[in-house]
Amino acid sequence: MPDLQSTVDAIAAEMAARPDRGDVATYIPELGRVDPGQFGIAVALADGRVVAAGDAEMTFSIQSVSKVFTLTLALGLAGDRLWNRVGREPSGSRFNSIVQLEHERGVPRNPFINAGAIVVTDHILSGHQPKEALGEILRFLRFLAGDETILIDRAVAASEERTGFNNRALANFMKGNGVLDNPVDPVLGVYFHHCAIAMTARQLAKAGSFLAHRGRHPETGFSVVTPERARRINAIMLTCGHYDGSGEFAYRVGLPGKSGVGGGILAIVPGKASIAVWSPGLDAAGNSHLGRIALEKLTARMGWSIFGGEGDAASR
Ligand code: GLU
Repeated sequence: MPDLQSTVDAIAAEMAARPDRGDVATYIPELGRVDPGQFGIAVALADGRVVAAGDAEMTFSIQSVSKVFTLTLALGLAGDRLWNRVGREPSGSRFNSIVQLEHERGVPRNPFINAGAIVVTDHILSGHQPKEALGEILRFLRFLAGDETILIDRAVAASEERTGFNNRALANFMKGNGVLDNPVDPVLGVYFHHCAIAMTARQLAKAGSFLAHRGRHPETGFSVVTPERARRINAIMLTCGHYDGSGEFAYRVGLPGKSGVGGGILAIVPGKASIAVWSPGLDAAGNSHLGRIALEKLTARMGWSIFGGEGDAASR
């Protein structure tokens, strides 16, 4: 197997040189100001080591990658009862589709499309003040990453509060259908703020590690979720983590993964590693263009696809 550090270094150099970088998201104006020339990658291993290259120490807006962690928290609170409120089928639709939600009477397809993540946030908020719910999410991420410096980027949150008309429409529609327990404004406030958490690729790779190791936090040995739950969260990441680009991601990369419009992707190699890549330019489905290409190269070179494929390496 090729050496991981040199593989990651080579991929970072290749990504830095590519002219095709995708387009940064502009519907959240603050994200539109990010330089698309950046690329970072970090791979967290079972012994706690992190192998990184490129802009792996730059913070970026994790956006929808936060939905993996809010889903984990909500499952901890509600257990399988959560699935009465949100489905677990791939959507095949845009991440903020209203048509699909109307069709399904306000019950979202899965916890990773925006509507589904808003329901998950509603669940975490119940019985708490918005500040407490947000504090809980932030503390969880800091614990997982082993890093107390992780913060919410208030400018990004405020930017989305000002322009989040589509998410407001989704939330109002669900409220109208009796799907949300709490008032729309505080639910969206918590949602926008957890999407605006800023992390580095190194921090994000570490935070996702428990999903690669049967629910166990590798450094502390703490059991974050049961092995069964880790397996199931990975399954939902594989089938739903990239919106209507999930099939393409499974085909090309072959790992459970979750993307965000800030250009981050968290991908899990069960039993081996948690990978975070970041490049702000997006493809047509709203997923990091170079992030996906980098992961495709990494899984092929390391033989890491969950679908097999050892030996692909020679052809890349
Ligand atoms: N905060 C973003 C939104 O709700 C998240 C979308 C994403 O990252 O895919 O539109």
